[in-house]
Amino acid sequence: MWESYNTQCYEPHEEPECICWRDVTNDLVVSPWYAWQGIRQNPTMQEFFDNIKNCSMNPENLVLRTYENGNGIVLDYGLRKQFWIPNPSGWDLEYLRTPIAERDKEQVKIKPCPFCGGNAELIATQEFRFRGDEGWMIKCTKCGANTATGNSLYSAWRDDVIKWWNRRAFEN
Ligand SMILES: [Zn+2]
Repeated sequence: MWESYNTQCYEPHEEPECICWRDVTNDLVVSPWYAWQGIRQNPTMQEFFDNIKNCSMNPENLVLRTYENGNGIVLDYGLRKQFWIPNPSGWDLEYLRTPIAERDKEQVKIKPCPFCGGNAELIATQEFRFRGDEGWMIKCTKCGANTATGNSLYSAWRDDVIKWWNRRAFEN
């Protein structure tokens, strides 16, 4: 779906009337907007998130950060990709505006450390973000126990990290 050929495209400053995406090289250089072929127009936020997942991206990493004008919004996906949504009616813009690390802080229940009983915190890394994704880790503030694996310190999937941390050996 990311192929740029054989698809309608628009100048970077345009406000297309359909859902589009573009690549970001840096603050000053963006590709044209490419129409996202095959997506239903005027989707609910959940439907749009499902499409993002189908493209192997994590919808939790979408942030409404760049600008809003007219009837549309620009969503940043990390620093490398943006999406244009011409009419996000009914979308939870407040959620999208909230910095990723701040989201759902109240709802997320993180159990105390299984080793020392200390408080644990959910950490979102910024370094990860520069590769276009947010990374997550839970770490005990007292003894430093954490969810890092042999492969990586941070996981792209926040829900997985919470599940790993909250799981106890004596539970099924
Ligand atoms: Zn601990």
